[in-house]
Amino acid sequence: MKDISEIRADFPILDRKVYEKQLVYFDNGATTQKPQCVIDAMNDVYTTYNSNIHRGVHLLSDLSSEAYENARETVRSFINAEKKEEIIFTSGTTGSINGIAFSFGERYINTGDEIIISHLEHHANIVPWQMMCERKGALLRVIPINDKGEIIIGEYLKLLSSKTKLVSVSQASNALGTITPLNDIISAAHEINVPVLVDGAQGVQHGNVDMKKLDCDFYVFSGHKIYGPAGTGVLYGKEKWLSELPPFQGGGDMVDKVTFAKTTYNVLPFKFEAGTMNYPGAIALGRALNYVTETGREAIALREKSLLSYATKRLSEIDGLKIFGTSDSKISTISFLLKNIHPYDAGMILDKMGIAVRTGTHCAQPVMDYFGIDGTIRASLCFYNTNEEIDSLVAGVNKVISMFS
Ligand code: PMP
Repeated sequence: MKDISEIRADFPILDRKVYEKQLVYFDNGATTQKPQCVIDAMNDVYTTYNSNIHRGVHLLSDLSSEAYENARETVRSFINAEKKEEIIFTSGTTGSINGIAFSFGERYINTGDEIIISHLEHHANIVPWQMMCERKGALLRVIPINDKGEIIIGEYLKLLSSKTKLVSVSQASNALGTITPLNDIISAAHEINVPVLVDGAQGVQHGNVDMKKLDCDFYVFSGHKIYGPAGTGVLYGKEKWLSELPPFQGGGDMVDKVTFAKTTYNVLPFKFEAGTMNYPGAIALGRALNYVTETGREAIALREKSLLSYATKRLSEIDGLKIFGTSDSKISTISFLLKNIHPYDAGMILDKMGIAVRTGTHCAQPVMDYFGIDGTIRASLCFYNTNEEIDSLVAGVNKVISMFS
């Protein structure tokens, strides 16, 4: 792996100052910063070959179509999916889950059927299923969690039944950092032929993800959380599902033949890509994934593990600081509260010191309800962060505490 100063030099924004203080960016769970090569890839589209994809016979359209389809192949290889046809570009995790919830609901869900999610989910993996259940008269069942913020597998096994039509869980919790035991969840569902969707929004950027090994039926993630542009995302689905599901949007490019009497649909993956796609974003996402591969996914995972353990140790030493989410199996995200101090107050003071953390419910209100709290302060770290930055956070937190005591 490159050394840390070389890595940080890849991300121009990390050099900036905030209120004349060096930026410490610990909000990577919300969105990651972009390496120069990703910014360049996006610029390159617009400055040298911009043209709508799959449309024209002219050179520029050929070039952009080719770059877009190459990006699809990059995604396929990055998550080790069987086929390129199984990779659909979307606007992000939210777009991907809403799409599947709609299509799956239309095709397979009837009154009394059940969908299983967990208590750890982001709103993006709750609300689309609730909307689908409302539409179809189905029921949402929720796997409970324990005080460490872990899914209780025994309770999950009790929820699985002949009524279960789909299980949808995150790979890791954005609010607490807990990593989900996906193998157990997927194998138990598959034993009774129930498909599983994995929300990889907080998983794909933290290590290897292999569709052939994981064997989930759908896998979704957002480009902006893995060093790519906002407004990009991926929906992977096994071909056997995608070929049976109806499209979730109608329009240009997703059709084969259109008449007023009847329309037939395009082949995979185009059936699910209606209208002008965010092709510059998808192309730049491809570059981001290549950047991650070049940097080394194992090395990234190791570095983040070391950052997590240093930050957990240093923060735990602070009197009055309580960490929420204490599983042994976590991504590099730490949620905490300071005794008697509202997270917004702490976040605002840290901001003035140049330290960007997230405060609030992290779009996971049920997790906050479980712990009986309004929100937390969340530091989400990634491989370009350093122990020195963690020291700055610790110093900042100590200052916040002293200001309120
Ligand atoms: N799921 C999880 C676990 C997330 O962390 C997020 C983003 N915070 C989402 C879904 C939604 O992602 P997006 O807003 O990029 O669609």
